[in-house]
Amino acid sequence: MKKSYLVIGLGRFGANVAKSLANMNCDVLAVDINEESVQQISHEVPHCLIADATKMNVLHELGAGSVDYAIVAIGNNLQASILTVVNLKNLGVKNIIVRADVEGHKEVYKMLGATEVIIPEEASAKSLANQILSDSILDYYQVALNYAIVKIEIGEKFESKTLIELNIRNRFDVNIVGIIKDISSTEFYIPKGTDVLSPGNIVVVVGTDSKLKKFDQFLNS
Ligand code: ATP
Repeated sequence: MKKSYLVIGLGRFGANVAKSLANMNCDVLAVDINEESVQQISHEVPHCLIADATKMNVLHELGAGSVDYAIVAIGNNLQASILTVVNLKNLGVKNIIVRADVEGHKEVYKMLGATEVIIPEEASAKSLANQILSDSILDYYQVALNYAIVKIEIGEKFESKTLIELNIRNRFDVNIVGIIKDISSTEFYIPKGTDVLSPGNIVVVVGTDSKLKKFDQFLNS
């Protein structure tokens, strides 16, 4: 059966959550105390209303007690956020996800009944790390926004070829700045076009996160 979601607080975070759920055709109700915030998403989220989530009777009337997931994205209004979590808990909502701004608030929300507490900055940093880190990426150093130097171990199925044949810079838009013979070696050398890349070699590569990810897939598919 289709799951139902209640998104409370439509600042940047809450509005994006509500819009994403609506775009995925989920059953979502979005509410905010502020009329303008509701209006801003009304063309993308069919069910949105003005409501004060700190009021138990308001939540009750909205049918909050029967949703599968409630997402509290009230953000920096700590008092309103706390009251809302307590209300949702009292209404018997099983999954209460709270957006927090600081690590220190996590425990407070959990004590009050939140099932999950998300700090958006932390979550996006982790998701980036997960995207980029695979078993074959041994190290990752961010050098600028979206740019990194990574160490990638070449997979067993890779067909050995020279750098000239591989034409990496043109094909993948990344640069190999060094090669290490294998995982047990400390010998690092600057590559020449005639050097051959083989399974087990470790390449040190610079590029954007997304290009590096594609190059890793090429070396390890
Ligand atoms: P971001 O950091 O992602 O930009 P934001 O700074 O926009 O988020 P806030 O401005 O704190 O986050 O947004 C929280 C939203 O929660 C606001 O739109 C505010 O009107 C709404 N809000 C505050 N109190 C309540 C309440 N009691 N009931 C419902 N909504 C509320």
